[in-house]
Amino acid sequence: MTDENDKQVETIAVHGGRTIDEETKAVNPPITMSTTFERREDGEYPQGYIYTRDNNPNRESLEGCINELEGGEGCAAFSSGTSAAMAVFQSLSTGDHILAPDDVYHGTEHQLDSIMNRWDIDTSYVDMTDKGAVEEEIREDTELFWIETPSNPLLKITDIKEISSLAHEFGCTVVVDNTWSTPVVQKPFDFGADLVIYSTTKYFGGHSDAMGGAAVTKKKDEFFESIRELQKHAGASPSPFDCWLIMRGIRTLPLRMKAHSENAMKVAHYLEDDPKVTDVYYPGLKDHPDHQIAKKQMSGYSGMLSFQVEGGKEKAFEVAANVDIFTRATSLGSVESLIEHRASIEGEDTETPEDLLRLSVGIENAKDLIQDLEQAIEKSYKN
Ligand SMILES: *Cc1c(COP(=O)(O)O)cnc(C)c1O
Repeated sequence: MTDENDKQVETIAVHGGRTIDEETKAVNPPITMSTTFERREDGEYPQGYIYTRDNNPNRESLEGCINELEGGEGCAAFSSGTSAAMAVFQSLSTGDHILAPDDVYHGTEHQLDSIMNRWDIDTSYVDMTDKGAVEEEIREDTELFWIETPSNPLLKITDIKEISSLAHEFGCTVVVDNTWSTPVVQKPFDFGADLVIYSTTKYFGGHSDAMGGAAVTKKKDEFFESIRELQKHAGASPSPFDCWLIMRGIRTLPLRMKAHSENAMKVAHYLEDDPKVTDVYYPGLKDHPDHQIAKKQMSGYSGMLSFQVEGGKEKAFEVAANVDIFTRATSLGSVESLIEHRASIEGEDTETPEDLLRLSVGIENAKDLIQDLEQAIEKSYKN
């Protein structure tokens, strides 16, 4: 829970993990591009750094900053969101069972079904927005609940509080992949989650130029100790430069999230009114089926939205082909707006509708973005 005396998110984003360099008094941390650190004559390591896979000043300050933003007791930074998720799964034991959303990020599904299954870790996929359905899937050996909200690409909203208390009734650990929201928009610990993971490649970095991931824990427990061990010994350490870039991104994260949220809301309202658009998925819209839950657990609704168009896959491709300001690319969370035909990136067995386009709404002027979509749609349906 947030303490009245706690610093606010904008302040933490600017100052979290900041140390003045003792040598030069530089206000920004130097990038410590050294894999190894000198020992003293007595064999000790004066600053505690030994080898960069174990720890590095840039990684340590990034971890401090993310941890403070999240209000956790510990953070481990990784070289990608994927490796952060992997460390969570590898902290389970053979025979453990996972409950994950039926529309979980496709990369996570791949990890679970093609890699973790070899260690006899079984996953059941369930509609996490339906408590009854989730309850039915709980087994004797269920250890972990994986929540992703808003979900990808249909922006379904899971009630973190409701699902966390259900999980805890059965002694299970709750992990929230909070990549789409960031702690600026949603703080899963406030609603009972035990662990939060991120692809910092997305909003944290915010400029499509660095890969990273993070796992943040509410309590320093054995499970987190295992994640820390995997960070050091499974080898997915982030580079000092990537840590530095992500940290630099975080300094403007609250400002950017505000702009992403405001722009996405405007774009969603425009799309709602366009006759060629058959459905819009954005939790900020009042008629989104889970708007009330979103309102309760999010502040702002982030920059991700999806919509369906008339005319199936062909027209969806055409609309994406006709944009000028939006860029046709996967990924999300950067300053520039992206548009993506999601089904074709997810592969053959996807359940994503073929007429769906996903937007990562950037921080450009909303009017320009709307005009761009408007002209793209108009051009696509001209004949
Ligand atoms: C991108 C993404 C990931 C994976 O992160 P990488 O940094 O690409 O490895 C995991 N979860 C969600 C929700 C994502 O959007």
